[in-house]
Amino acid sequence: MSRLKQVCMDRAISPNEVKVVQWLLDHALGDVRAYRLHPVEELHVVGGCSCGCSSLYFSSKRGSLQRLADEVALYPDGQTAGLMLWGRDGEIVWLEVYDFEPESSHRRPDVSHLCTWEDWGRRDLGRANQEQQKI
Ligand SMILES: [Zn+2]
Repeated sequence: MSRLKQVCMDRAISPNEVKVVQWLLDHALGDVRAYRLHPVEELHVVGGCSCGCSSLYFSSKRGSLQRLADEVALYPDGQTAGLMLWGRDGEIVWLEVYDFEPESSHRRPDVSHLCTWEDWGRRDLGRANQEQQKI
């Protein structure tokens, strides 16, 4: 989940990624109506992360971002990773996947793996207080 080293990508969002982003919007932290005005299917992947994690960038613009959603991927074998969706001014900018265990963020979460913190029964208070981030 390095925020500095980004690799260029240029492709349409995949059907599974659409479902992941939509699921995160459905479980958003606040009002994300502005972020639903543009269809998620039309998001374009412009960057990935060089560390090998499955984080995706949908915009090359940088600056202050708003955290839209913060949930968990729980894999069938018990491994877990964190997922956050970041945006700005109605534009979804970044799907962040971060490690709970070494390299768990390198897996590509399927929508069937997604789970809320409440469902999982744990809260990470350190991250819960973090509402803004610069990349
Ligand atoms: Zn990374």
